[in-house]
Amino acid sequence: MLSKLTWDEILEDNAQNQRSVINLLSSSMVATLNAQANLLDLVGDSLLDDQNYMDEEKSIRLLSKLLNNNPAIIAFGLAQPDGHLIFTSDNLNRNNLPNLAHYPASADSFAETLLQNNMVLGRTYLMPTLQEWVMPIRKALRDENNQVVAVMTAGLRVSGRDAFLEGNGLEDSSNAIFIVREVDKYPQYVSPTVLANDSEIYNSAIPDLTYDHVIDTLAQQDMPKTDLYLGKISHSVAYTNRYGDKQILTLKFIPQYNLWGVTTTSQSLLVTRFLHSFWLFLGCFLTVIAVIFYLFKRIIHSEQQHIQQLQYKTQHQELTKLPNMYGLKAVLTENELCYGPNHIAVIYIDIDNFKSANESYGTDFGDQILIDVASRLKMHKAEKDLIFHLNGDEYLMKKAFSDPSRIEEFVSNLHRFLSQPYSRNSAEIILTMSIGVAFSPEHGKSFENIIQAAEIAMFEAKKQKNHFVFFGDDIYQTYQENLQIEQQLKHSIGSDEFFMNYQPQVINDGEIIGIEALARWDNATLGLVRPDKFIKIAESSGLMPRLGMHILTMIFTDLKDIDRQIDRPFSVSINISASQFLQHDFYPVFEALHKTAALQQIKICLELTESLFIEDTEYILPVIEKLHALGISISLDDFGTGFSSLSMLRKLPIDELKIDKSFIDSLIDDETSRKMIQNIISIGEILDMSVIAEGVETLEQTQVLKSINCHRFQGYYFSKPLVWDQLKEKLMSQ
Ligand code: C2E
Ligand code: CA
Ligand code: CA
Repeated sequence: MLSKLTWDEILEDNAQNQRSVINLLSSSMVATLNAQANLLDLVGDSLLDDQNYMDEEKSIRLLSKLLNNNPAIIAFGLAQPDGHLIFTSDNLNRNNLPNLAHYPASADSFAETLLQNNMVLGRTYLMPTLQEWVMPIRKALRDENNQVVAVMTAGLRVSGRDAFLEGNGLEDSSNAIFIVREVDKYPQYVSPTVLANDSEIYNSAIPDLTYDHVIDTLAQQDMPKTDLYLGKISHSVAYTNRYGDKQILTLKFIPQYNLWGVTTTSQSLLVTRFLHSFWLFLGCFLTVIAVIFYLFKRIIHSEQQHIQQLQYKTQHQELTKLPNMYGLKAVLTENELCYGPNHIAVIYIDIDNFKSANESYGTDFGDQILIDVASRLKMHKAEKDLIFHLNGDEYLMKKAFSDPSRIEEFVSNLHRFLSQPYSRNSAEIILTMSIGVAFSPEHGKSFENIIQAAEIAMFEAKKQKNHFVFFGDDIYQTYQENLQIEQQLKHSIGSDEFFMNYQPQVINDGEIIGIEALARWDNATLGLVRPDKFIKIAESSGLMPRLGMHILTMIFTDLKDIDRQIDRPFSVSINISASQFLQHDFYPVFEALHKTAALQQIKICLELTESLFIEDTEYILPVIEKLHALGISISLDDFGTGFSSLSMLRKLPIDELKIDKSFIDSLIDDETSRKMIQNIISIGEILDMSVIAEGVETLEQTQVLKSINCHRFQGYYFSKPLVWDQLKEKLMSQ
């Protein structure tokens, strides 16, 4: 498209150029020839005056002077009407010159001159004496009777510096110029390059330039022939010359002298010009493309850099600059475990109680600890080992061992090293670590499998904290079991696989004053699953809030029934997991259930564990206040196993302490346990909290408890947990 444009432009450009050349050529030709005609007239007149031409010497002087003033004229001559030259300018030897009426090159035009009043042009010929191409011009000189007395003749230079058309700026490198005689199609004048290429050009008619073709195209274009012959228009055609050269030709007729002005341009020249501009265009085009390409490359490069930066950011932990979970995933795909002679160990590290340290000492210190752990790990790493900083306070190390028996020693040292105090400014804190270890090929063949095994071992270590645990069959089995429980749990919540047991709470010798609601799950696949198992799994898998709600609904349904049948105050204890209590819809849902049940005799007590109070007390305490306002009391379950101090207990709005079963178990044999129970009882007295002992299995335990002022009991000695109907029976029989 673009190249077509350029080619058309070049053609149009050339046509325009040719038109202006041809117009200039014809007007210059006419002007020059008119001037020469006037000169001939003048010279002739002055020679004929008083028969001056008879004075040969005087005439020759005049002509020579004129010659000097007109460098385009080669020579002058005066001839008799019979063709005999009377005299010439002194640069010619008259005796060598032919008779003009007989000499073939001049005969026709000389005869014509005798008939014409105007100046007549002879064929351009090579003047033998001067060896120059000459265009003869002749004019008949007449007396008062119009009789020809002489013929004034001159020769115009058609080549060389002083050529008659020289200096008109007509010829340029692209145009050849011809002036052709209409009468015989002989060239009258050709531009220097044409002559240089064909020194014989003036000696013959230009045979292929018949003009018929030109006239035809004129007719095709609906232009009047007469306009062309009147010299009003110029005309262009494509044509092939006798050498087979394709040309563009423009011609114009010069009627005053019966000449054709012709200019031609070789198409090959135009093609060259086209190619030149085409290459130029192509050059520019390629340059632009190259620039665009370069820019694109730059953009892509910076885009790639940007992506790499982003990738680095997403795959690395901001604080420690270690690869994170995403970094680990990226490595997983490319990093198959290569055994070689080495064993590969994956060491999964989790900081114990990092959350509370972060809260107690501030996040700045927390951040510093994370950085310190990372640098301690780096110190234990060999060049090819990998370290990752996973979620929050979890790290992972992949390490090669040539001697597997050294793995345990390494992990033990690492555990000790990581548990060294962490300090910043003047503060110092001791943190313990739970570490899980698995290795290849023993525990799996892919990196991913080993990581999973190490994580399971870490969870196992976490149960006791400040431990390192090696992955083993037993751990794996528990893990598989738990996984299965979790799967079943997901589908069973809300189904009738769940039901409640109620375990009586008694005073004195067995008078039932309340019950504790305990959940049971009889799963179609797994059978009866123990509550301490499924409750833990529900908690760790995030299913507890849903399960807790389902349990509450079941309990309230049962309670409405018993509340109608009972005629004395009765306490019902309900276990609430921390994760359930912390749900924002816990209170509103509980309140709605409680309100709908509209219990008369039953008073609800919620059993919470100490772990709840590690959480956000600013959120918890107001909820407890609202519960209190509903008449709900709070019991601290498993009391004595946790961290609660007396000063802390003082601040908590608790109504009952429930002594953990483990103290009761060892009460008889273990003095410390008894002392502990005594303390709990004293705390209850001081803080005005009631105290209940759970897991009481024997009469002896009951008696000892009574002797140290504990009067409320729950345990197999009095009753195992009962299904609803059994409980009702028991209550009715009292
Ligand atoms: P817990 O809250 O400490 O409940 C007391 C556990 O001690 C019950 O076990 C009960 O059956 C058992 N127990 C009571 N007296 C004796 C005794 O004399 N000897 C022995 N060996 N055991 C006795 P259970 O029902 O297996 O429940 C285990 C744990 O599961 C509960 O411990 C509680 O933490 C949890 N749990 C049970 N039901 C629920 C529930 O509805 N919600 C929540 N959040 N947790 C529940
Ligand atoms: Ca309980
Ligand atoms: Ca308990």
